[in-house]
Amino acid sequence: MSGPREPWYKDGLQFSCQPGCRRCCGGEPGYVWVNEDEIAAIARNLRMDADEFERIHVRTVYRGEKSLKEKKNGDCVLLNEHGCSVYEARPQQCRDYPFWPEVLKSWAAWAREKERCPGIGEGELHTAPKLTELLKRQDALD
Ligand code: SF4
Ligand code: SF4
Repeated sequence: MSGPREPWYKDGLQFSCQPGCRRCCGGEPGYVWVNEDEIAAIARNLRMDADEFERIHVRTVYRGEKSLKEKKNGDCVLLNEHGCSVYEARPQQCRDYPFWPEVLKSWAAWAREKERCPGIGEGELHTAPKLTELLKRQDALD
């Protein structure tokens, strides 16, 4: 009897965010999903009232889901010249990148994402069990 199939990333994957790179935080339209807890944490980080932060920086899309607003050039509203202005309180979606289900679904998808993210294939080795845990947690949120 054979055991469960090993994932394609069984030997782990290398990734370290590259200093000075801000590519995944802007430059093109997209969504940065935030829930109420994340809005509160970001507002606290900015020493703002949560309702005020939401009114100014959050938009509601689809069925009531909330995303951070963007600047005209597609940059996240929280991106400044140094990088993320709320790095310690950034939303889970940003913390998980590039280990998103659509990126981890195959080696080809991972290789394609490398064209967007220069940190892929560099630096820290993330083990297969850790990656599988990350995927399970994100799947549970869907
Ligand atoms: S694209 Fe990759 S290297 Fe660049 S900021 Fe995003 S995670 Fe970091
Ligand atoms: S919240 Fe921060 S890390 Fe996330 S997209 Fe915006 S600037 Fe980037």
